[in-house]
Amino acid sequence: MTATDAAVPVLPETMQAMVLEAPGAPLEARRLPLPVPGLGQVLLRVTACAVCRTDLHVVDGELPEPRLPLVPGHEIVGTVVATGPGAQRHAVGSRVGVPWLGWTCGHCSYCEAGAENLCPSARFTGYTLDGGYAEFTVADERFCFALPDTYDDLHAAPLLCAGLIGHRAYRIALEHPVGGGVDHIGLYGFGAAAHLIAQVAVADGRRVYAFTRAGDTDAQAHARRLGACWAGDSGQLPPRPLDAAMIFAPVGALVPAALAVLRPGGRVVCAGIHMSDIPAFDYARLWQERSLRSVANLTRADGEDFLAHAARQTLDVHAVAYPLAHANEALADLRAGRLQGAAVLLPGRVCDA
Ligand SMILES: [Zn+2]
Ligand SMILES: [Zn+2]
Repeated sequence: MTATDAAVPVLPETMQAMVLEAPGAPLEARRLPLPVPGLGQVLLRVTACAVCRTDLHVVDGELPEPRLPLVPGHEIVGTVVATGPGAQRHAVGSRVGVPWLGWTCGHCSYCEAGAENLCPSARFTGYTLDGGYAEFTVADERFCFALPDTYDDLHAAPLLCAGLIGHRAYRIALEHPVGGGVDHIGLYGFGAAAHLIAQVAVADGRRVYAFTRAGDTDAQAHARRLGACWAGDSGQLPPRPLDAAMIFAPVGALVPAALAVLRPGGRVVCAGIHMSDIPAFDYARLWQERSLRSVANLTRADGEDFLAHAARQTLDVHAVAYPLAHANEALADLRAGRLQGAAVLLPGRVCDA
């Protein structure tokens, strides 16, 4: 800790955290020593941490080699309470957001080409680095974002992955259109990411078609309220062929389903980090220059770009608050599809049950 700590309230020596000891087991409430910010790092008091579907994949053991024991969580809003040696980008007292991308090497061919999201040495918050399911966390200051003032902590947290990955997927869906514009966009899985990017696409003048689990009329109504021109079950055909589709649900069977609703030259973008196996499908679904593309991680440029957009267009963020100690309940609600929008842990909230 540095001399700048003089103005900082006395910090506790330990903190409450929800810890993954082994994949497949519930998180355990633990008291851990307060982390110490290293070179170029900031110590944050976590004020909100959203729960992402990727956290479920980590907890369920669907992603290889997590740090163990691990504090999950990569949609962190926090206040800088101390700085490590050399850290000077964010002053003590400032509010920052910490995303999934926690560190990159800076000199590999991907980093040098502006594709640090693919850096083979990258480290990820709440996966290979401890994250935000805790009262405090440390983060490399170069990977922390300033946040727009128009969102409080609860509503800013889901921007940091749901918003940001949705935005990257959206930008990729719009790239290199073949045979016309990208005016009609399908969203498969209307959860935390889709409910945000739907608003961006509608504000851009595009027509949004929302596909949900069969019979999920609540999610379909939610999509229509946020501006979708059509909402239906994922097995249904929309009223017209679509120019692009984004898949946010971790369900491989949606890939051939989404290809089947595209016009020739259209593109399907898979936005998740993990998906069940994709069933075999007829080549005719891909033929006629349809394309299939995945989205991996984020770059800092994506974060700056999306947060600048979120400052210009105030998004209607649906956030459901949980005390930190209820992280397992939040994960269970996400797994069961019981959430409209995003679950957000609030470490400052006292647990009454
Ligand atoms: Zn690199
Ligand atoms: Zn995420």
